[in-house]
Amino acid sequence: MNSKLLKYTKKGLYCSQADIYIDPAGKTNRAIITHAHSDHARRGSDSYLAHPVTALLMRHRLGSKINVQELEYGRKVNINGISISLHPAGHVPGSAQVRLEGCGEIAVISGDYKLENDRLSTPFEPVKCDVFVTETTFALPIYKWEPQEIIYKKINDWWLRNKKNGIVSVIGGYSLGKAQRILKHLDTSTGKIFTHPVIEDVNEILRNSKFGLPETHRLNENTAYKELKGNIVIGPPSFTGGGSIKDTGKYSIGYASGWLKTRKAWGRQSIDIGFALSDHCDWDGLNMAVKLTGAEKVFATHGFTKQYVKWLRENEISAYELTDIAAEDKED
Ligand SMILES: [Zn+2]
Ligand SMILES: [Zn+2]
Repeated sequence: MNSKLLKYTKKGLYCSQADIYIDPAGKTNRAIITHAHSDHARRGSDSYLAHPVTALLMRHRLGSKINVQELEYGRKVNINGISISLHPAGHVPGSAQVRLEGCGEIAVISGDYKLENDRLSTPFEPVKCDVFVTETTFALPIYKWEPQEIIYKKINDWWLRNKKNGIVSVIGGYSLGKAQRILKHLDTSTGKIFTHPVIEDVNEILRNSKFGLPETHRLNENTAYKELKGNIVIGPPSFTGGGSIKDTGKYSIGYASGWLKTRKAWGRQSIDIGFALSDHCDWDGLNMAVKLTGAEKVFATHGFTKQYVKWLRENEISAYELTDIAAEDKED
């Protein structure tokens, strides 16, 4: 890898001067974690550096005994002469880009990110650098998101329609980020919001950190259909995709994911309606981000790396692919 600060290893991106990995897989001494999604925050490191909200979520997901040093956005720590700081990535609460400076180079690792301010996560902040490592989950021109207000309106209209028809709305989305983003933009005048326990656990953590989430009701085995009628349930993807919920009453199943931008993808989910709401950049967002960093070299990781590198090179930017380190959970 053509960078003074970063190397690409089997365990992931590594800065040898600071002896620190970014979002590693496997055993390491020290790791910086960009955000708490399971394909970024993994067990196996003796010590972690992360944003305080990510640290809370990591303790919940990986166990309270993990050793995490908390670092606020914009604060610097120095390890062996390398200055390290975290900057908002706008992906999910606590998500950060990692900035490393030393050896005459500034490198920024984006983690997952989006430019649109979702009013839940701290908005993305462009960081000037020489080397930019960007994710490319949706790096194809077909991925162009509608403004989020339009999608929230579609979700709220669908809920209202279902209420009028006397049925339950069930919407699926990832339990950290997507679920709370939906939650925060629901029209609570329509009815009550129920949440799957996996999501409610995350809500509780975020409530403690004052993310301004509306009131929710934790779903349990005893929740009767008549309580849910006309109301909305937010569940993780597996909950809505499994189909079991359909057995006990009348439901309309929705799912929120960037992958649903193409109608074909709807067919692969057992859903009644799809909402193309993503916590990643679309094509225009990626190009804007690359431009804003002013980076001379761009490394692409996750997703459509090949296509994006080709595009950047055609536009006279030095670009390279990072081979994915491990099979990834497909996030949206
Ligand atoms: Zn993520
Ligand atoms: Zn990811």
